[in-house]
Amino acid sequence: MATDPTLSARERRLIEAVASPVLVIAAGNDAVILAANPAARRLLGERAAARRRLAEALGPDAAAALARAIGAMALNGAGAGVTLDCGAAGAIRFELARDPKDPGLVVATLRPEGAPPTGAADERAELRAVLESLPVGVELYDRDFNALFYNSASDALFDYAGVAIAHHDHWWRLAFPDAEARRSARQDWRRTVAAARADPSRAHMAEWTVRTRDGGDRVIQFFYRFLGERYALVLWDVTEQRRLEAELRSAARTDALTGAANRRRFGERLAHDVAAARAGGGPLALIVLDIDHFKAINDRFGHAVGDDALKAVADRAARALRRDDMLARVGGEEFAALLPQAGRAEAKTVAERLHAAVAGTPIVAGAVTLGVTVSLGVALLRDSDGAPDDLFARADAALYAAKASGRNRVVFEER
Ligand code: GH3
Ligand code: MG
Ligand code: MG
Repeated sequence: MATDPTLSARERRLIEAVASPVLVIAAGNDAVILAANPAARRLLGERAAARRRLAEALGPDAAAALARAIGAMALNGAGAGVTLDCGAAGAIRFELARDPKDPGLVVATLRPEGAPPTGAADERAELRAVLESLPVGVELYDRDFNALFYNSASDALFDYAGVAIAHHDHWWRLAFPDAEARRSARQDWRRTVAAARADPSRAHMAEWTVRTRDGGDRVIQFFYRFLGERYALVLWDVTEQRRLEAELRSAARTDALTGAANRRRFGERLAHDVAAARAGGGPLALIVLDIDHFKAINDRFGHAVGDDALKAVADRAARALRRDDMLARVGGEEFAALLPQAGRAEAKTVAERLHAAVAGTPIVAGAVTLGVTVSLGVALLRDSDGAPDDLFARADAALYAAKASGRNRVVFEER
């Protein structure tokens, strides 16, 4: 039944004018499309053009199924229809009619029947669903930073009420209400984007505290990457993580029993204050304070009462200090106070106040009332001091002198 039919110009014009998708097929072992009107080409794509083989236009399986339907129609003489899976174009119903004078000439009218079971459209929808389900924000922009896509996690942070963010620039004013913070972050961003452009092989990171849709400030990490002509960013909220880290950092430098700074923080602050004083920042005084006969309190009332007494001493001492002074627990029942900007007279005043605050009134610890006294040694930083430890050693010597001369007193270092 292989024929070589041709269509007249008039027939072609008529087919082109039909609104439904229409193919005219020269049936045979290797069926060929004689004409495909614009609607058919829209539906099947440009591979469904005149002179193309049916197998090229529809794929081998669909072409074979269509050839079978045409063959069956030729046998029983009637029209026929078949639904074919046409790949990306989806399932398409082919209603077939043939020229009674030329059985090799078949006209197919096409009707889309729905999305393909698996196909490009489904895959895109699936990828989109994956992006929407991610616990991290995903945003996509074109090369000029016009928005193409935000996922729901990104919306949850940055879908500011009533403001459409169509361009990356619109976001800055909302996320950084403070002009100075905005300026600095934008500078940072420009650097990061330039690096991301120059090296698209990896994501480039920036982290800022930004205003989010609920009006709160959150710490967000942004990963930038150029994907061909597109600019992608992935972002997530690290507020809680940063808060925990800060808490751990602080805990590592705080004495758990009394809440005062621990030895480690004291060492850092001592080094810092000594350096600042050396750089012309003014005088620096150090007070060391040791509870008198503390062992006796433990022995008599037990360790728990001893702990309560330690807490009370730390509390009273902290209140007696000035705002920029630092109290640290540097030993079991020994504290140190750093007094920046304190000369001899000021240090003496603060030390006396400290002594009175701790020892002036009895401490109530549990069921017991304790008359706790303390001894204090005071020293001032000298130009001749080598290491920060020299200052500490002189304050300690003064404390020893206070103990030796009867306790419950303030002793200044020897000049
Ligand atoms: P001095 O007047 O010479 O300072 O006598 P002291 O008894 O205070 O000195 P000593 O150094 O002999 O004793 C310090 C005591 O502090 C011994 C130790 O059991 C106690 N101590 C150290 N740390 C803690 C603590 O965290 N809790 C309690 N309850 N006691 C502590
Ligand atoms: Mg003691
Ligand atoms: Mg001691």
